[in-house]
Amino acid sequence: MHQKEKARILIVDDEKMNLKVLADLLKDEYAPILARSGEQALQHALGDSPPDLILLDVVMPRMGGYEVIKILKNNEKTNNIPVIFVTALNSIEDEEHGLKLGAVDYITKPFSPPVVKIRVRNHLRLVHQYRLLDQLAHLDGLTEIPNRRRFEEVFQKEWTRSARNGTPFSLAMIDVDFFKQYNDHYGHAKGDLTLQKIAKALDSGMKRPADLIARYGGEEFVMVLPETDAAAAKVVAERSLQKVADLNIPHKYSKAAPYVSVSIGLVTISMDNKTLPQTFLNTADQNLYLAKQNGRNRIVASVIGL
Ligand code: GH3
Ligand code: MG
Ligand code: MG
Repeated sequence: MHQKEKARILIVDDEKMNLKVLADLLKDEYAPILARSGEQALQHALGDSPPDLILLDVVMPRMGGYEVIKILKNNEKTNNIPVIFVTALNSIEDEEHGLKLGAVDYITKPFSPPVVKIRVRNHLRLVHQYRLLDQLAHLDGLTEIPNRRRFEEVFQKEWTRSARNGTPFSLAMIDVDFFKQYNDHYGHAKGDLTLQKIAKALDSGMKRPADLIARYGGEEFVMVLPETDAAAAKVVAERSLQKVADLNIPHKYSKAAPYVSVSIGLVTISMDNKTLPQTFLNTADQNLYLAKQNGRNRIVASVIGL
C-alpha cells in the first residue's frame, strides 16, 4: 500500500446488493474489489495484487467465510491481511468463533455505515503502522539499506527456493579496504558518511528485483543474487567494484588504491542439495580473505558444484 495509492479492500458477499452497499460506502476513500463467493475471494487474495483488508461474509453457498479465513490464515502470503467479518450471524458465540479464527473485527448486519467506515479506517491504520515498523526493523540505521536480519531472512528463503528449483545461486561478501586507516585519518564521522555513500553506490548496481544488498556489519556488505550463475555474478561484482571506485573518495592511507576501494569474495553454487548454507557462506568469506591477501580492490570467485 503506497502512500498515494488507495488501499485495496476485498469485499466478499454472495448477495449482490450487499456488495453494492459496501462498495458504494468505501469507494471514495478506497479501491473496493468485489467477490461473490469464497472461491472468488481466495483467488483475489492469493493473486498477484492481494488486498490490504478483507470484509468477509460468513454464510455463503459452498464455501463459507469461516472456511475462507482458515485458508487465508494458513497461508504465509495472506495470513497478515486483516479480515473483518460482516455477517447476519449475531450471537455472541458466532462473534467469538469468528474472532478465534483470526478475524480482527466482527460487524453484524444490519450495520451502521459510518461505523463500518471507521472500523475499516482504524484497521488500515494498524496495517500501515505494522508495515512501517516491519520496514524499520529490517533497515540499517546508518546506511538505510536492509540490515543483517533482513539478509538472514532473504538468504534463507532464496536458498530454499534455489534448492527447490535447482537454479544457480550467488552471493558476494564485500569489505571496505583499509577502513580502519580511513577512520583513523579522516575521522569516524567522515567514515560514517563514506559507508553511506558506498551503500548507495552498491545498491544502485543491483538490477534484478530478487537481488538484495544488505549491511552485514561494520564496513562489510553482502549481496544475495538468486538465479544468478557465475558469469552473471561476476558482472555484478565487477560493476560493484567500479561503482565504489567511481565515487572517487580520496584515501591517502590505503595501500590498495588512491581512493576508497572494496574487496569482494564471490561464490556461486549450482544447487546440488548437498552443500550446507553455512559452507556456502564460509566459501564467500574465504574468497574475501583471499581477495584481501592478493592485494585488495579485487574479486575472488569460486563455484561449488558443477
Ligand atoms: P582490510 O582492508 O583488511 O579490510 O582492513 P580494514 O582496516 O578495513 O579492516 P579492519 O577490520 O581492521 O577495520 C574495520 C574498520 O571499520 C574498523 C572500524 O572502526 C570501522 N568501522 C566499522 N563499522 C563502522 C561504522 O559504522 N562507522 C565507521 N565510521 N567505521 C566503522
Ligand atoms: Mg575492511
Ligand atoms: Mg571487515
